[in-house]
Amino acid sequence: MIRLFDTHAHFPVELGSLPEGVELTVMAVGGSPELNRAAIAANTGFVALGYDRDQIEVERAPIDYKNANAVGEIGLDYHYSPQTRLKQLALFEEQLELAQKLDKPVVIHTREADDDTLACLRHIPARGIIHSFTGSPGFGRKLLDLGFMVSFSGIVTFRAADNVRETAKVVPLERLLVETDSPYLAPVPLRGTPNVPANVYHTAKFLAELKGVEFADFAAITYQNALTTLCPA
Ligand SMILES: [Zn+2]
Repeated sequence: MIRLFDTHAHFPVELGSLPEGVELTVMAVGGSPELNRAAIAANTGFVALGYDRDQIEVERAPIDYKNANAVGEIGLDYHYSPQTRLKQLALFEEQLELAQKLDKPVVIHTREADDDTLACLRHIPARGIIHSFTGSPGFGRKLLDLGFMVSFSGIVTFRAADNVRETAKVVPLERLLVETDSPYLAPVPLRGTPNVPANVYHTAKFLAELKGVEFADFAAITYQNALTTLCPA
């Protein structure tokens, strides 16, 4: 039996179907009041709850973190909304401090915000996952130095994503995770269709080949990585 772990999916979404002999575990990820509710309702066994960069002006309902595996997704996105940088920073820092207080890992979204992401993580130490990584190998190395796991989505399979593949090559296998970010970012060969957690199979196959390891080994190592990251020791 091959086990795959989709470390990042938003609900509601169908799980999709996998080839015979492949089993799927999914972490349901929140980030807004609606996504948090849906992630809890999905009841997949693993859940991340939090408020991400778009949630600055939103009324943020208190969250019961008792059964949450992680705080997330949280983070900074200056691609979509550079004009809200300071507010995003304030929310990101608040969420990092919360994770520190709860002693839980974080799930971080970072896009075109390398310097601010690193600065925040240097003054509010955290552990966890950088999700759907799309940065340079240099940024990736700095995050690895801070102890983070780096998770790759279907973007790594996209034709134009050479820099993401370069980063995937430098991330050691024991620090690497795989995800779908469903319902977004369906991998090649399904690009353009709504994404489902089962499609993590395609991204995992792709990454195993890129890293030059057997698919079964890649699956076993990244599955264990997810457990180690998300379950208290
Ligand atoms: Zn997401």
